[in-house]
Amino acid sequence: MCETKKKGFFTRLKEGLTKTRQSISSGFESIFSGFSSISDDFYEELEEILIMGDLGVHTTQEIIEKLRAQVKEQHIKEPAACRQLLIDTIKEQMDVGENAYEFEHQKSVLLIVGVNGVGKTTSIGKLASQMKSQGRKVILAAADTFRAGAIEQLAEWSRRAGVDLIAQSEGSDPAAVVFDAVAAAKARKADLLICDTAGRLHNKKNLMEELKKINRILDKEFADAYKETLVVLDSTTGQNALAQAREFMSAADVSGIILTKMDGTAKGGIAVAIQSELGIPVKYIGIGEKIEDLQKFEADAFVEALFGEEEKSC
Ligand code: GDP
Ligand code: GDP
Ligand code: MG
Repeated sequence: MCETKKKGFFTRLKEGLTKTRQSISSGFESIFSGFSSISDDFYEELEEILIMGDLGVHTTQEIIEKLRAQVKEQHIKEPAACRQLLIDTIKEQMDVGENAYEFEHQKSVLLIVGVNGVGKTTSIGKLASQMKSQGRKVILAAADTFRAGAIEQLAEWSRRAGVDLIAQSEGSDPAAVVFDAVAAAKARKADLLICDTAGRLHNKKNLMEELKKINRILDKEFADAYKETLVVLDSTTGQNALAQAREFMSAADVSGIILTKMDGTAKGGIAVAIQSELGIPVKYIGIGEKIEDLQKFEADAFVEALFGEEEKSC
């Protein structure tokens, strides 16, 4: 039996991943019970299922290669017997070391970046609420001053989460907002400052320059705070999300990913591709629009939820 809390977490994770799981598991059932031997056809069909789940061509090929090697080494003949081997191989492929949540324990600042509409503001609201309920003093900085309505949207989340907001008027300098927010965080002895940013400016170069400028402010004015830059990616955009992440990695020292909208996609396998190809940990996944729909990401639990057999409910 599993503890109630753990089961609750896992059940919610599985529910959030329903679409991806259905797409992968129906394929799995058909190959693991449909093939009588481990043939080239078997591998080809497995490859197709993984690519359909958006693990990406590169990651899929690596997984298949490792699986082939192990099947040979361990003289496995039955398709069903290599299911667990496949799961372990995928877990291994996702290993990016310990997924630290150091910012929960120190005075910290999180810079949240990502293109328009991926779920930055929503994720900030959810995270602020979680941190607040853990007894942390949180301040939000409305540094998306570009998009109409962005400040009011963050203000609404700050009310829901019950945390302070530092904002200026639309069109003001985002770096100046961050500067003010750092001053407020110091004066009010906040534990955590979370900075929202714009996903689009007049052009991409402007956006990246803007982020660098904000980073300079943080490094100079808030040097003693533990800093993380989290890129928010929309899982429904599949492989495109990888390209976005790379773009932000070229402009900032990215320490983690928040992968959103996992509830609305059959392409949740993108989490595997992200960790495997970028080597950056997915720290949180968004599994809905409500304030409680953000979960810490645990690669092992995630792989079990996606690829494990139905009976395993905890
Ligand atoms: P931003 O432009 O990056 O700040 O994105 P927003 O936070 O404004 O979110 C854009 C849309 O995505 C909103 O309608 C959110 O409700 C929605 N959204 C964000 N995260 C999730 C999620 O995990 N699941 C679902 N289904 N929708 C989400
Ligand atoms: P640089 O752009 O990297 O050369 O950095 P600066 O030190 O010139 O300032 C960056 C931004 O921070 C500017 O856009 C300023 O508006 C803002 N800033 C700097 N000092 C202050 C300050 O004392 N108060 C406020 N509100 N903003 C400031
Ligand atoms: Mg926003």
